Amino acid sequence: MRDVIVVGTGPAGSTAARILGEHGFDVLALEAKRHPRRKVCGGALSVPVVEGLGIESDDLVEVRKSIFVSPSGFSLELESDSVLAYNLPREQTDSWLARLAVEAGAELREGEFVRAVIEGEGRARVIIRRGEYEARAVVGADGFGSRVAASLGLRPRGWFRGNAFCPVAYVPLGGDLRDAAAHEFHMGLAGAGYAWVFRHSDHLNVGIGALVENYGSLPTEELRRFLEEGRSGLLARAARTGGGEILGSYIPYNGILGRLYSERTLLVGDAGGFVNALTGEGVRGAIKSAELASDVLREVLEEGEPSEEGLAEYQRRCEGEEDLGVNIAVGREMRDLLFSDLRFLDDLLRFAAEDDDMGRLLLDLIYTRRGYSELVREMFRVLPKRKILRALRVAPGPAIRLVGGISDPHFDPSRGRFRA
Ligand SMILES: Cc1cc2nc3c(=O)[nH]c(=O)nc-3n(C[C@H](O)[C@H](O)[C@H](O)COP(=O)(O)OP(=O)(O)OC[C@H]3O[C@@H](n4cnc5c(N)ncnc54)[C@H](O)[C@@H]3O)c2cc1C
Repeated sequence: MRDVIVVGTGPAGSTAARILGEHGFDVLALEAKRHPRRKVCGGALSVPVVEGLGIESDDLVEVRKSIFVSPSGFSLELESDSVLAYNLPREQTDSWLARLAVEAGAELREGEFVRAVIEGEGRARVIIRRGEYEARAVVGADGFGSRVAASLGLRPRGWFRGNAFCPVAYVPLGGDLRDAAAHEFHMGLAGAGYAWVFRHSDHLNVGIGALVENYGSLPTEELRRFLEEGRSGLLARAARTGGGEILGSYIPYNGILGRLYSERTLLVGDAGGFVNALTGEGVRGAIKSAELASDVLREVLEEGEPSEEGLAEYQRRCEGEEDLGVNIAVGREMRDLLFSDLRFLDDLLRFAAEDDDMGRLLLDLIYTRRGYSELVREMFRVLPKRKILRALRVAPGPAIRLVGGISDPHFDPSRGRFRA
């Protein structure tokens, strides 16, 4: 009987295993694959993730310059004195985090695929292909297709609808692009989506992030078209040394699950829906949710046995945390607002080219350098009135409520943020 079994060792699972291991709990981490394992991702990491976890690698690419290409083809280049983000292939990041977990005392068993979690009779049973393990508590960190969430009935009906599917090409690089922007965003593809080109040390990571239902043709076809169209400066300048392998994966865009806990289990990372749907950033939410889950589990396990009542505290903390629940909720609304009318998005990018404050706010938003509720209020102070009126005319219902701060029972206009 273990104290905690962590299912999955992406950023969320490894973080939970590390923290609980550091606090002296008997932790077993089960991973279906073997590190270093492939994870389809853009590989962009926010500054607090890299610096907070001391990630080091010769392949870390500093991002100081970003290019935003508007739906009509207008190009906006924004530069910053400080590092905006880093690029690093996920196999390196995730191996680093898994190693930290093992160093903290967690036992890692790879090649162990978890089929289900069953709770009852004072324990949680973690069912694997041949046999099972037992624990006082479980952390479900098994990503988008979480077996843990499904087996405990924590995924609402129809949850798979409204998520994003992203095809990604790994284009090998020849040529030296070190002076070029490390991030390029092409806004307004496939409906409310965008394409990205991220410069890594030896390849370009090129992908499209869009809602599954918005693709007009197969996502891989849309990506191939983008690769061939010649819109991207980075792609044009790169001396390609190959066609590039194309892989695809889902991102949860539906926001945090209404229920992240059961009697003995907490969901973290993609399994719980902790992704910013405006930017697609999920590593930061994975780590932050795992930190909160570890805090709650530690408190509960030190006092006695877990219960639904005790673990419900995790949901409250996630939803109330500015850097997690609030940003994710506001991020979804911002996505609806910014992508609901491509002419408005175009206008906004052109305005950011003329107005330094707006340019800075855009960087703050894309790289989550400040809390979203504060940023949104500031954006609407900076924007000229006629642009706000246009935004209100084109915005879908929820986004109007966000802007006006009215009629949403979860939105507190006096504080400009969502209620916990
Ligand atoms: C195309 C794409 C691009 C993205 N780009 C970015 C980006 O640039 N920056 C960013 O911050 N985020 C990005 N994201 C989001 C980010 O990848 C995820 O939010 C993040 O990986 C979530 O971490 P996690 O630990 O919750 O899950 P994962 O990283 O998915 O890890 C889950 C782990 O669980 C294991 N597992 C799964 N099922 C089982 C099972 N049944 N039993 C045992 N183990 C299991 C898996 O093998 C895996 O190791 C992107 C996502 C996609 C799809």
